[in-house]
Amino acid sequence: MADPKGFLTHDRELPARRPVDVRIRDWREVYEDFPKPALTKQAARCMDCGIPFCHNGCPLGNLIPEWNDLVYRDDWREAAERLHATNNFPEFTGRLCPAPCEAACVLGINADPVSIKRVEVEIIDRAFAEGWVAPRPPERKTGKRVAVVGSGPAGLAAAQQLTRAGHDVVVFERADRIGGLLRYGIPEFKMEKRHLDRRLAQMEAEGTEFRTGVNVGVDVPAARLREEFDAIVLAGGATAWRDLPVPGRELKGVYQAMEYLPPANRDLAASPISAEGKHVVVIGGGDTGADCVGTAIRQGAASVTQLEIMPRPPADRPGSQPWPTYPMLFKMESAHEELEAGGGARVYAASTTEFLADEHGNVRALRLVDVEGPAAGFRPIPGSEREIPAELVTLAMGFVGPERGPLLTGLASLASRDFFDARGNVARSVSYETAVEGVFAAGDMGRGQSLIVWAIAEGRSAAAAVDEYLSGRTALPVAVPPTARPLV
Ligand SMILES: Cc1cc2nc3c(=O)[nH]c(=O)nc-3n(C[C@H](O)[C@H](O)[C@H](O)COP(=O)(O)OP(=O)(O)OC[C@H]3O[C@@H](n4cnc5c(N)ncnc54)[C@H](O)[C@@H]3O)c2cc1C
Ligand code: SF4
Repeated sequence: MADPKGFLTHDRELPARRPVDVRIRDWREVYEDFPKPALTKQAARCMDCGIPFCHNGCPLGNLIPEWNDLVYRDDWREAAERLHATNNFPEFTGRLCPAPCEAACVLGINADPVSIKRVEVEIIDRAFAEGWVAPRPPERKTGKRVAVVGSGPAGLAAAQQLTRAGHDVVVFERADRIGGLLRYGIPEFKMEKRHLDRRLAQMEAEGTEFRTGVNVGVDVPAARLREEFDAIVLAGGATAWRDLPVPGRELKGVYQAMEYLPPANRDLAASPISAEGKHVVVIGGGDTGADCVGTAIRQGAASVTQLEIMPRPPADRPGSQPWPTYPMLFKMESAHEELEAGGGARVYAASTTEFLADEHGNVRALRLVDVEGPAAGFRPIPGSEREIPAELVTLAMGFVGPERGPLLTGLASLASRDFFDARGNVARSVSYETAVEGVFAAGDMGRGQSLIVWAIAEGRSAAAAVDEYLSGRTALPVAVPPTARPLV
């Protein structure tokens, strides 16, 4: 245990965010540096519980009390080793994870939980800075070939594990660059892409091959891929978005979040879909919506409003969401701070009924109504209808599952049983295998829209299953069975 009295003597602390008026003028990450003594105190707050609930809260089973203790003892190199034992990419989760581990921290029962995520990111950033993150190429090659379709966190985790196990791994990505939503969904101010690029450099040095601009199913038929490779991992994400079929949806200026964010991420200075000088409305109160808010503000929007159909969540854990579950609480993300500082608003319990056009067919306003619900559905409140200016609208209402394109329909035609589950995701056995022999699925494509930490956990676990399928046994760890339901 780091410090037996640490949790009594130190309060929870996080690094400050850079001032709003400064950070919205650039795209850099929002947090200031965290001084090492402050971090040591945070690590010292860990109680090294007999039953560390944080392990269970983390889908990767990260060894949290162990690295807290190592940081407290100033053994950062060993802390980085321990971190990598369960997580291929702590620099992604340390920045982007909603930290269900912290919701499960025992200290959180009657005090503020340990700042686990901050300790995680500081360890890995130091490890990269010190040059401790070296390529780990395999000691022997198996001669087996594995295709990974999709280069998001699930595909990358599977590819790194399988490459290190000695297989020849090719990652196919239809976009022009590797990274999935880490590259073109998540904005720079949440994670600078240099963190992704340095990890990809490590993977290439280990022998993973990346092929971009290849839409599997279209450019390479699924059946041919199956013939050419000994196994396939499907990690194509859940990219079919939820739409809002109200009058005026077809107007110019109404975009899906994933039509708006990728060009903004591609060209920070001059996106072809820019919010500059426009009244922006973001429909959807989740993380994707917050990413649209922060992006629109940096592009120089005249105003930003975020709409959410659900009522405003509570500030504190309600009795219905007891410790150690992950509670749905009111959050103040960096983008929300920026929204409020600029006079914008988050409007809850509101439903969009229509988009209104100007004389050129561009959206100019949005009609909405307050609603009661969600019990027994959402009911409009009479007399609450109103219009708000909206010259750019982004729809951030989530994703319904994987796309039913030629890749999945082609594989489904080879399947001996149902290729899709009841929710429309790719069905897997307990060993991540789909209904087509030798074809496995991990990440959002199999579990539906989820989180980076789950994608990495599934990618690692699917890799173990593929290794066993190819070699008859495996030393790769399994993080999580595919049937586990998300906590968040
Ligand atoms: C805007 C946004 C912000 C988010 N922010 C967070 C966050 O802060 N924290 C968090 O934990 N989660 C966040 N998420 C969710 C998280 O990004 C996803 O759960 C995670 O990326 C899923 O990983 P994946 O590898 O399964 O799929 P993805 O990251 O979606 O990657 C799938 C890849 O497969 C490629 N592909 C698909 N089909 C083919 C094909 N036929 N041929 C070749 N390539 C193909 C796609 O182009 C894509 O690059 C966010 C999601 C969005 C949309
Ligand atoms: S990956 Fe997420 S849940 Fe796991 S330790 Fe890191 S922040 Fe916590």
